[in-house]
Amino acid sequence: MNIGVLALQGDVREHLSALAESDVLARPIRRPEELADVEALVLPGGESTAISHLAVSFGLLDPIRKRIADGMPVYGSCAGMIMLATDVLDGRPDQETFQGIEMTVRRNAFGRQIDSFEASVPIDDIAGGDFHAVFIRAPWVEQVGDDVRVLGRVNDGPSAGRIVAVRQGNLLATAFHPELTGDLRVHRYFVEMVRQAEDAR
Ligand code: GLN
Repeated sequence: MNIGVLALQGDVREHLSALAESDVLARPIRRPEELADVEALVLPGGESTAISHLAVSFGLLDPIRKRIADGMPVYGSCAGMIMLATDVLDGRPDQETFQGIEMTVRRNAFGRQIDSFEASVPIDDIAGGDFHAVFIRAPWVEQVGDDVRVLGRVNDGPSAGRIVAVRQGNLLATAFHPELTGDLRVHRYFVEMVRQAEDAR
């Protein structure tokens, strides 16, 4: 299985190791030629404005949009979730996305004072109990299109009910960072999505 991790900015190494621990040898992707060699992509957490600008200058914006439109499985965490959204609130005016999941996300949604926090999040489709989810200047999802499945909402605290995990077809996004907590269930779920997409071809 050939999975790439978009390696322009953000917690690339953490995703590479989470995938390695899920028994997939993933590779960093920085150029269009490298993208052509992978069947699926992970978009790391980091800073979506930086990832957007670098994707444009590295000539990756349109190739990734096209692969997504052609059905490539993609998983995005945090900034990666923003990069997958069709619409962004509180973004920078020149910020681009890969236009994958029909949803409106709000950047830095959980409040400026609360840079990071932890909450429990039950995820549909993933057994084994609530996720201990770590949010770092995270977005939340304000609106989803008809074809988007909400997989998880914050379970407790002042942000209870906020949508933080979604799936549309072969695209998966979480507002939190499973790559930072050693809980491999989201990465394993994504690897299974890639396997199913492979079988369906
Ligand atoms: N606030 C960041 C952004 O807008 C996301 C933060 C993260 O990925 N931890 O891209």
